[in-house]
Amino acid sequence: MKIILLGPPGAGKGTLAKLLEERKGFSHISTGDLLRKEVKENTALGAKAKKFMEKGLLVPDSLVVEVLKKNLNPNGSFVLDGFPRNISQAKMLEENNIDADTAISLKVKDAIVISRLSGRRICSKCGKIYHLVNMPPKKEGVCDVCGGALFQREDDREEVIKKRLEVYRKESEELIGYYAERSKLKEVDANAEAEETYRKLIEVLGEDGKKRKN
Ligand code: AMP
Repeated sequence: MKIILLGPPGAGKGTLAKLLEERKGFSHISTGDLLRKEVKENTALGAKAKKFMEKGLLVPDSLVVEVLKKNLNPNGSFVLDGFPRNISQAKMLEENNIDADTAISLKVKDAIVISRLSGRRICSKCGKIYHLVNMPPKKEGVCDVCGGALFQREDDREEVIKKRLEVYRKESEELIGYYAERSKLKEVDANAEAEETYRKLIEVLGEDGKKRKN
């Protein structure tokens, strides 16, 4: 099964995709993570992408598609987190026969997004996601799982969050319409904490699976 997670930054796409990977064996493909890795490793692609990412703007399609193709196994089960971000990226999936079975639109209020992202901290070693208030680590600044140092993403600062939300709003309506027209769109309320949203997501995916068999 191939799933696309759509939703504003802070909707919980990364957390849900990680849970689907751990519990259901999906491969989690986050274009944001792949691009951040290119930036960290200071590759030519990373240097180009960085200029857009630090301003909260979308990276040009050609660069994103290049990292995606390098990392996606089109024949396995995967969950795409952060891709596609616009219609031309959605068409690229279709044209390459790696289109998803279901696109999940995660619905969440702006105020919740801002609070989630500004408090988000990430382990620099294992990638585990924390929140200063909702899910703090036992020891400040240190990952409970592997002892790695926690950091804040450059683009999780409030002024950049606002820009990312604006970009999302501009692109998402069309994208949501695109999947609705193809009868692939499902909505999930993502205002509650991760486990509750995960439960709703599994319910929606289960319904979809049942329909498919009949
Ligand atoms: P994310 O981790 O999904 O919030 O992505 C972080 C940043 O990476 C975004 O603000 C964009 O600059 C860039 N990015 C990630 N995925 C894409 C994509 N599919 N298309 C264009 N830019 C992307």
